[in-house]
Order: sequence, then C-alpha cells, then structure tokens
Amino acid sequence: MIQLFRKERMWRTHDLQRSYDVVIIGAGVHGLATAYYLGKDHGITNVAVLEKSYLGAGNSGRNTAIIRANYRTPEGVPFFARSLALYESLSRELEWNLLFNQCGHLTLAHTDSSVDGLRVRAETNQIMGVDSRVIYRDEIAKLVPALDMSDRPRLPVLAALYHPPGGIIRHDAVVWGYARACDRMGIEIHPFTEATDIHATGPASRNAADTPPGIEPPEGKITGVETAKGGIAAKTVVNCTAGWATVVSRMAGVSLPIVTQPLQACVTEPLKPFLDKVIVSANLHVYVSQTDRGDLVMGAEVDPLQSYSMLGTLPTLEQMATYTLELFPQLHNVSVLRQWAGICDMTPDFSPIIGGVEGLEGYYLDVGWGTYGFKAGPVAGKYLAECIATGKTPELIEPFALSRFRNETLVGEKAAAAVSH
Ligand SMILES: Cc1cc2nc3c(=O)[nH]c(=O)nc-3n(C[C@H](O)[C@H](O)[C@H](O)COP(=O)(O)OP(=O)(O)OC[C@H]3O[C@@H](n4cnc5c(N)ncnc54)[C@H](O)[C@@H]3O)c2cc1C
Repeated sequence: MIQLFRKERMWRTHDLQRSYDVVIIGAGVHGLATAYYLGKDHGITNVAVLEKSYLGAGNSGRNTAIIRANYRTPEGVPFFARSLALYESLSRELEWNLLFNQCGHLTLAHTDSSVDGLRVRAETNQIMGVDSRVIYRDEIAKLVPALDMSDRPRLPVLAALYHPPGGIIRHDAVVWGYARACDRMGIEIHPFTEATDIHATGPASRNAADTPPGIEPPEGKITGVETAKGGIAAKTVVNCTAGWATVVSRMAGVSLPIVTQPLQACVTEPLKPFLDKVIVSANLHVYVSQTDRGDLVMGAEVDPLQSYSMLGTLPTLEQMATYTLELFPQLHNVSVLRQWAGICDMTPDFSPIIGGVEGLEGYYLDVGWGTYGFKAGPVAGKYLAECIATGKTPELIEPFALSRFRNETLVGEKAAAAVSH
C-alpha cells in the first residue's frame, strides 16, 4: 500500500566504513537508482552512495520533471520506452507516491521542416511501439484550448508530435523514494561526503574516448575512493555526477568527451488550472507545463557558454518569457517567482555514456545526461546494475558505451533531446 504520511526517517546516518563492494559517487536519481537495482535485482547491498551535498542537490532536484519516450533514434526509443514503463509502476514498487501525471506531451512545429522532422519521429516511435503521432491545428486547438492558434504569432503552430503517455513527475519524490528503498535494504547513503580522489592501478591518465580503434587502452584496476571523511577500499566505483562528471572522472584518470553548460528554468505564481499538457516548442526554444499547485514551470535551451554557475540570468529569463507569451499571450501579467539553473554534462551526440571503461576494471559511468536524463534514471540504474553484477553489458545500454567515440558509432539524438528535455 502507498504510504501517505511519513512516520520514520527516510534514510539513516552511518559512519563511513573502510571498504564497500561498490561505491557510487552522486546521490541524484541515477546514483540512487543504480544502488537500488544493485540491491533489489542482484542482492548487492554492501554499497555506499556518496553525495557531496544534500540528496537531489544536483539536477535531480532542479529539473522540470518531464518524462517521455518519443525519442528519435532506434537506440534511444526502446531505452526511454523501458524507462517510462519502469516509472509507471515505480510508486507502487517503492510504496511512495511519485505523483506521476501522464497528462500527455506535445512538441510543436512552427515550420515545414520541423513538421517533416516530427513525422520521421512519429514513424520511428510507432514502429518501435511508442504511442506518438503527428496532429494538426484542429486537434491541437481542442487538446490545448489556451494555445494561441490565431494568425497573430510570427511563427504560427503548424503541427505537433502528440505523445499521450508523456507527462510530469514529482522529481524530489523520486529521489527520496529510491533513497528510502535503498536504506531499507541496508545500502548506506552518505550525504555531505565528497569524493576527492579515485584510486586505481595503471597509468595516472588515459584518454579512453580518443584511443584510436585497434590500439588497446592501457590496463588498470580500481582500488578505492578518497573522501573528505577518509579513504575507502572498493573494487567498483560508479560515477553518477552529471555536471561534475568530467571533474570526478579525471580523478580516475579518465577524460570524457563532455562539456558542461548550465540549463535554466523558472516558475511563476500559481494560476487556476488551464493547461493539462506539457507543451514544448523546439523552434521557439521554450517549454511550459502547469504543476498540480497551479504554477507554470518554464524552461529554455542550455546557456551558450560553458560554466559551472547555477545562477539564473536575465537574457534567459527574457527568452523564456518572450517565447511563452508567443504561445500564451494571455499570461502577460503573470509574475515569475523563482529562476534557477543546473549544470548539464553535454556529449557531442546528445546521448548518454553508460557502462564500463575499456582498460579500467571496476570503473563505471552513468553520465552525459545533458538536459534530459531525469526520465532515464530507472532504466539506466537497472541496466547499469546488471552490467556491474554480471560483468556483461545488457543490449539496451550497449550503444551508449564510452567506446563509441573511438569506434565512431555515435548515437545522434539531438533532434529529440535538445530543448525538448
Ligand atoms: C533546469 C533543468 C531542467 C531539466 N529538465 C528535465 C526534464 O524535464 N526531464 C528530464 O528527463 N531531464 C531534465 N533535466 C536533466 C536532468 O535533471 C538530469 O539529466 C538528471 O537529473 C541527472 O541526474 P543524475 O543523478 O545523473 O545527476 P544529479 O542529480 O545532478 O546528481 C549528481 C550528484 O553528484 C554530486 N556530486 C558531484 N560531485 C561529487 C563528488 N565529488 N562527490 C560526491 N558527490 C558529488 C552532486 O552534488 C549531485 O547531487 C533538466 C535539467 C535541468 C538543469
């Protein structure tokens, strides 16, 4: 039965032990999901999840909580579809209400070429069993009566990719739900415990993504992690640190093809319910949804410059407001209450990096989640846990290995992953 009222601590505090079977760095949705499925599916519970701040302090507590599976590539669609399916049963499984509202997700197209792009996506989705189709102005107007469908906008809405099972979840509830379930299995969660170094045998640095095909990367093994609270011996270390992924990976001597860019969002004062779909416009680089509380959550594209700043900026606020008003001009008097940013780990092909690292035994990555990784927490955690427990890479995550950059087998997901989240 789903528990409505909290009667006990969600997770306990522990002294850091001197060794664990697995150390996971980063207690966002990916780190906690990996720990959860290690325990639940494989009985591996001698696990520590290290978090340098509070749980969910990174992007897991800063995102706009959109869940969907209507991606573009044959590798991405089944992967995200599996995650959506896991999310659908997660409240029950964790006995914790995640407030998952499958209200439907619309990606608007305002140009002929965008409509063509959506048609390709819809066909790819349908072939792979994902509920997604292109709809046109009449149906859009019925589904979203508040949307400006007049001839006023400079870029009128021409069509939309409609994805009925997409929606919004309560992001912090997901983090807490996984954390509580980990704690119940005896997995230790260590907030305010920063990993400061990763120990390994072999060379001090390796450019795992750039080693040319045919040349074997240098050999080495993970031996432990250094933290602000002392050293830990561990043969397996998992990097789930999103925007900090390159910094943490460099501790293990592994450089990653990732750049770090802030992504901003904002929230307005609460309004009477008027919008029950998630609205995304890739042409206008904006997206909007209304929460159960009534406030509008709005987001934009990533900042143009690389940075580790988590502050909002005026130009992005202006962009979010301007383009939201293109879609919903009636909101012109609504006040924005808060604006924030999270730092995103952007890969060149807009796909994640999941799995082991050639040549460095015991080192695993679940990074490169850019602006769209919250929806993938369950699937990445589940299949990475299988990879760690069995030593075999499951088919579903195989395309996302770090080695794709040296083997030139990129998974170009930008068409469905950029501003759409
Ligand atoms: C504004 C915004 C909107 C977004 N909207 C969506 C959306 O609608 N849908 C979607 O699917 N995705 C969205 N995303 C992306 C999504 O939030 C991320 O991809 C996802 O949360 C990544 O989860 P994670 O667990 O990998 O990382 P995080 O939640 O960032 O967790 C990483 C953790 O690692 C910790 N850490 C870092 N270094 C160390 C260290 N040395 N030692 C210990 N701990 C460390 C950090 O403190 C952090 O808590 C959005 C992101 C932002 C910023």
